[in-house]
Amino acid sequence: MASVLGLAVVVGLWGIWVFESRSAGKDDANTGEFSYQLTRKPGEGPADVIVMCDEDVMSAAGDAFAKWLKLEGIPLKAPGGVMLISRLNDVTLDSSLKPLQRALVEVLKRYSPRRVVLVAHTYCIYYDTVAAWNDDLAKVRQRQIADMRASMSVLREWFPRAEISGYLAEEDANHKLVFHSATKVGL
Ligand SMILES: [Zn+2]
Repeated sequence: MASVLGLAVVVGLWGIWVFESRSAGKDDANTGEFSYQLTRKPGEGPADVIVMCDEDVMSAAGDAFAKWLKLEGIPLKAPGGVMLISRLNDVTLDSSLKPLQRALVEVLKRYSPRRVVLVAHTYCIYYDTVAAWNDDLAKVRQRQIADMRASMSVLREWFPRAEISGYLAEEDANHKLVFHSATKVGL
């Protein structure tokens, strides 16, 4: 378990690094120094944020979903997607995830997004690992939906003017990942 969560922190932080530096074009300022043109300046206007799990299965599907939603932003990838936002005061959350959790909160607050889309997905290794640890695999989906709703209410408090929505991506019988709205999925 420790190694899975350790990896999660590294991968998650990498996701944030991508988020912070992706919008760019190269610029030669003729100073002899390396410079990098950032296209988005602070205070230039809000961006859309999609928060999703950093697992491979969500990579292409999540990007396609963001495109389908016409999000003008970039993905913020963190272990379990909504898991860290919903457990801000959860003392049982593995301590190795705390620095990543603080970074995630900081990025969200700094960007002050106008729209936040949260995505959880089935067969999530992070949720399954925690559930296996607690011997509670039958309730993973229920926990994800509860976390999703908790995250949505936290974000509504932080960003009262932002549009907050949540989705549970579930694989169907035809091997398709279907993104169900959190307001429609039942427990
Ligand atoms: Zn996952």
